[in-house]
Amino acid sequence: MKLENLSWNEIDTENSAVIVGLAPIEEHGHHLPIGVDFYLTQKWVESTAEALNKNDPSRKYYTLPIIPLGNADIKTFPGNLHLKQHIIYHIIKQILQNICDWGIKNIIVISGHGDPKHQIAIEQACSYINRKNGLTAFSPMGAIFSQEKAGIDLNHSKIVKDMLDKYPNDFHAGWIETSLMLYYKSKAVRENYLHTADIDIAPQEMISRKKIDNKMADIGHLGYPRLASKELGEALHINMVENIVLAIEKFINKDDYSRYQHHFLYKIPFLRVGLFRR
Ligand SMILES: [Zn+2]
Repeated sequence: MKLENLSWNEIDTENSAVIVGLAPIEEHGHHLPIGVDFYLTQKWVESTAEALNKNDPSRKYYTLPIIPLGNADIKTFPGNLHLKQHIIYHIIKQILQNICDWGIKNIIVISGHGDPKHQIAIEQACSYINRKNGLTAFSPMGAIFSQEKAGIDLNHSKIVKDMLDKYPNDFHAGWIETSLMLYYKSKAVRENYLHTADIDIAPQEMISRKKIDNKMADIGHLGYPRLASKELGEALHINMVENIVLAIEKFINKDDYSRYQHHFLYKIPFLRVGLFRR
């Protein structure tokens, strides 16, 4: 249910949850629009709220308009709108505190932008809110993106598993995001995706901004967009919504949710918002 369509006194603060979506506008290669993360986040927020409501009609699942902001460190391409990590932390913290002040007891943040520092800033904001208000805020995407490294088996379908085995290093605008966009908004995918070059980058190279910039060059993707398909997009979508729903239900029921609270890199101090800026 879209909160922006309600009057303030129609908002049920007793038996409800609010899902906050945010994602930056940023380049996604020559073949995808700069709004990819925004569109993915929008789909995941809407589909998740719908599925949660189907599973438990007694609770209201509210959504807010997607906040078009995020943190990243990559080279500046036209179209990139990136904020510093501590700014994202403060924005999320203040938004969550506002919602807490309404009296809402379950607030979930969903962001389709996989940059670890972005996810970690959101998780730190949730931790702050939970220390101050009691357990209220939850951000499962860092853990879901970390998958097995966070101890989570996403239970992918066979076609996705096979692709992940063969082409795991698909970090940005590759077969994963291109497939999802083919499924969500096929007209937004330029046909040149079929002729894009494979850009290989190892996970350990992803911590070097210089290496990322060199690999992206004037193209902008990291991975294998030419291998995308609508079929893969549908399988990825179904799986993503199932996993987000599962994580949120675990959080709301306070049942075995803790491994969904953090990106696997959360414990690395230099990836976090510095103490002095809190
Ligand atoms: Zn993206």
